[in-house]
Amino acid sequence: ILETSELKKSFGALVANDGISLSVEAGEVHAIIGPNGSGKSTFFNTITGFYKPDSGSVRFDGEEITGWRSDRIARRGLGRTFQIASPFEDLTVRENLLGVYTEGLGSGIRISKEKRKRADEILELLEIPHIADHEASDISGGQQQLLELGRILMLEPECILLDEPTAGVNPALQNRILKHLRTINEQGTTFVLIEHDMSVISNIADRVTVFDQGQIVTQGSFEEVTADHRVREAYLGQSDDP
Ligand code: ATP
Ligand code: MG
Repeated sequence: ILETSELKKSFGALVANDGISLSVEAGEVHAIIGPNGSGKSTFFNTITGFYKPDSGSVRFDGEEITGWRSDRIARRGLGRTFQIASPFEDLTVRENLLGVYTEGLGSGIRISKEKRKRADEILELLEIPHIADHEASDISGGQQQLLELGRILMLEPECILLDEPTAGVNPALQNRILKHLRTINEQGTTFVLIEHDMSVISNIADRVTVFDQGQIVTQGSFEEVTADHRVREAYLGQSDDP
């Protein structure tokens, strides 16, 4: 459903993505791991139109989307979250969900019944109806992560790129987020997630791609990539040296 070919992005002399060719199948949960600064977030930003690639191409659902603007890509069905959740702080949780569609809430814009229904469904799905009328600035970091996911779900994307969806979230809420991701995945949504937590990856990922210094170093099932000595050393603190 999503395919990049030789995607390159540099910042001055720094090559953040050095020819990334990645293919994500429809319906899978695909994890991207790699050290800090290895180019994971840049990859998402380049795919979703926040950065313009220096070269290479991106195909989504049979269509070349290289160089498209980010809002057009989102409307086309490729959603993404940001590493740092950034809700509209002055709006309530429900307004944030509705705000995905309507800028300038409160200035008399009418919101359709279907949209309100969808927002209510998402509040239920994510088990946060009790905070629907809380201001986004007053909810916890973990709840902001759920809201960030909810805002993307409002657009009913076919594929969602998640940048560390469980970072800074307590284990109970982390398990809930994973449960919701699995439910949404079973309903047909494809996920690509950047994740540092190996327990999350073993729990949810069908396939794992490992980044290092802007390149893909290995790819496979969780078992396959964790059999690679480079991954064991970097992530599991295990060394093959005697
Ligand atoms: P982390 O796990 O810490 O989130 P990452 O793998 O997501 O890291 P990126 O954020 O993609 O890493 O950054 C890759 C490299 O590109 C880093 O060296 C970073 O400093 C650099 N970089 C990212 N965005 C920019 C930017 N807008 N301008 C300049 N350099 C950038
Ligand atoms: Mg990042």
